[in-house]
Amino acid sequence: MPATLARTVEFHHRKLLRAPALQFNQMVAIVEIPVERPTGFLDQLGTEIVDIYVGSSKHQIRVHKALLASKVPYFKAMFEGGFMEFEQNSCTLPEEDPIIFGLFIEYLYGGGRLGPIDIEKSTTTNGPVVDRIKLYGYAEKICFVEMADYIMTNLVSTFHHYLRTPSKEGIRLAYSVTKPGSPIRKYMSQSLWYIMKYVDESSWSPDVVCEILRGVDDLLLDVVVAGRGRKSNNYFMGEKRNTDPRLYSKCEWHAHPRGAACALQGEIL
Ligand SMILES: [Zn+2]
Repeated sequence: MPATLARTVEFHHRKLLRAPALQFNQMVAIVEIPVERPTGFLDQLGTEIVDIYVGSSKHQIRVHKALLASKVPYFKAMFEGGFMEFEQNSCTLPEEDPIIFGLFIEYLYGGGRLGPIDIEKSTTTNGPVVDRIKLYGYAEKICFVEMADYIMTNLVSTFHHYLRTPSKEGIRLAYSVTKPGSPIRKYMSQSLWYIMKYVDESSWSPDVVCEILRGVDDLLLDVVVAGRGRKSNNYFMGEKRNTDPRLYSKCEWHAHPRGAACALQGEIL
């Protein structure tokens, strides 16, 4: 070893020997490992909470603000719109139904999914199918296309799986909670046309069909359009199968732009 380098090594060696021993807390400081930050879903949640009071009973629902803002542009715009209520992390939605709003929250926290529809609990006026139709109306109201498309896939899959058609009340309900041009209206009017042609007349007599159409001009118009529509481009499928809306591509009932990538084309019960 050259003499200069040897002296340098000896100097540092002596310096190290003279250095006081490290205290425990200094050692801890040296070996400290940075706290691992949450990632993914936890980051999406954040820590800020919004209190939402829903319905006339002001049912309180606590929601992570960041989740609402990141998933639903409608709420993001509300938060950024400078509304006094949202600055205080609180708002009231007196016109909404707590059960339906609860389903909306379940969808958000459930990663864009809801629990399966229990068909046994579905009546023509109450239960999971009726609630899904109402939830569709809410999705349309807040322009939440992703949830609207999920509900359509979910509803059509359920009708297909259990060999059901929409009820009279369900068809009228869909028209009462949505606007002209809505995909759920298109599905309901196409279903009614299919029912008129192929379903047993004992439960869907002409009187019953007229009763559904009475007073709902938009539905009457859509049924006429549905009747004129769908031309078979597959002769092997047959007309009955070709006009059964449960068998169409799910994208037929989605609100996303035509041709856009779609993760909701399969069956979702
Ligand atoms: Zn689609």
